[in-house]
Amino acid sequence: MSDERTLSFETLAIHAGAQPDPTTGARITPIYQTAAYVFEDPEHAASLFGLQSFGNIYTRIMNPTQAVLEERIAALEGGTAALAVASGHAAQLIAFQALMQPGDEIVAAKKLYGGTINQLGNAFRGFGWNVVWADTDDIGTFERAITPKTKAIFVESIANPGGIITDLEAIAKVAKRAGVPFIVDNTLASPYLCRPIEHGADIVIHSLTKFMGGHGNSLGGAIVDAGSFDWSRERRYPALSEPRPEYNGVVLHEAFGNFAFAIACRVLGLRDLGPAISPFNAFLILTGIETLPLRMQRHSDNAKVVAEWLSRHEAVSWVSYAGLAGNRYYNLAQKYTPKGAGAVFTFGLKGGHEAGISLVKNVQLLSHLANIGDTRSLIIHPASTTHAQVPDAIKTAAGAGPDVIRLSVGLEDPQDIIADLEQALNRIG
Ligand SMILES: *Cc1c(COP(=O)(O)O)cnc(C)c1O
Repeated sequence: MSDERTLSFETLAIHAGAQPDPTTGARITPIYQTAAYVFEDPEHAASLFGLQSFGNIYTRIMNPTQAVLEERIAALEGGTAALAVASGHAAQLIAFQALMQPGDEIVAAKKLYGGTINQLGNAFRGFGWNVVWADTDDIGTFERAITPKTKAIFVESIANPGGIITDLEAIAKVAKRAGVPFIVDNTLASPYLCRPIEHGADIVIHSLTKFMGGHGNSLGGAIVDAGSFDWSRERRYPALSEPRPEYNGVVLHEAFGNFAFAIACRVLGLRDLGPAISPFNAFLILTGIETLPLRMQRHSDNAKVVAEWLSRHEAVSWVSYAGLAGNRYYNLAQKYTPKGAGAVFTFGLKGGHEAGISLVKNVQLLSHLANIGDTRSLIIHPASTTHAQVPDAIKTAAGAGPDVIRLSVGLEDPQDIIADLEQALNRIG
């Protein structure tokens, strides 16, 4: 489609990147379930392999269904290009691999999705990529964590699990001064609630598994290139600034300009590391994204109703939802997520650990499981599941103390969600 930037978000969510199939006329983007693509002739094959022309070679690197998903996500986030991969974790792995050398450092927010804390703190440490934790409530901790080895700053726009809102513009300034890309995981907000590129993000990461796909049926991840980072000025990123011998000596930032990072992630990261998204998952996530604006607004509105109700319940000691007036992050939410503070938040039970177990055991409509961003409402008691092996003091610091319950509020009638929580809360001894 031409002129996508003049179309509204709702329209882009349905149309960006897609056209009727040129050979069959199929209106919906087909599932191109193929591993490889026939070359026109040997010269065409050579030019594809040398990056002189752009086209399909092999589905690990590129696939037409995946390509529509990538264009759609880039349009919704306001980036220059995107890359779709197998999962949110794969997106993080590929993005960091394009930036990091052994001995380099990532400055990351302490409050992140638990799986990301593990990935950065365990797997990445094994690669010699060291993470330095900083506190989004104290921007000075980001400033002070910067060293000559820092290669990226990483935060979540809305941080899992507590629904905390990050001051993106303040941290973007720190990244700019340090000359390193600012990477924002926008999974909990989705571009409907927050567009981090407008607040200074250079790279946006998604777990498409959550609200983007939105139906709890497929894993996926994405990397969005804002096109804002000057790789020529910062020569500390050899993947982008050094000649690539396997591609006839091409320097990626010279050849690809403001989408060089997305290209690096595809032609180096996805090629060499391999976590490609399946065409079927790309198709399901594309279908989900068509209703993202409607779903995300309702998710967020429902979450606010449920959070307000919980904050008045006698068994509940606190509710951490940035959309509630009086919440510590309320003002940041008004600035960064004015349409709503998302659907994932935590609350505390006066009855502690035992009450938490009782609640997840007695819910009927809500599903007790380790996921977020489904049409269905989801609940988990982190202390007895994701954080079960962790000592109590560390649990509490991670926002997963014995009394904590995390909700991902779904698209059911909020009164039905409340009724289910009420009957289960009433059964706590
Ligand atoms: C789930 C999640 C991830 C990881 O994504 P997967 O698709 O499960 O690999 C990363 N960040 C956040 C905020 C998440 O919620």
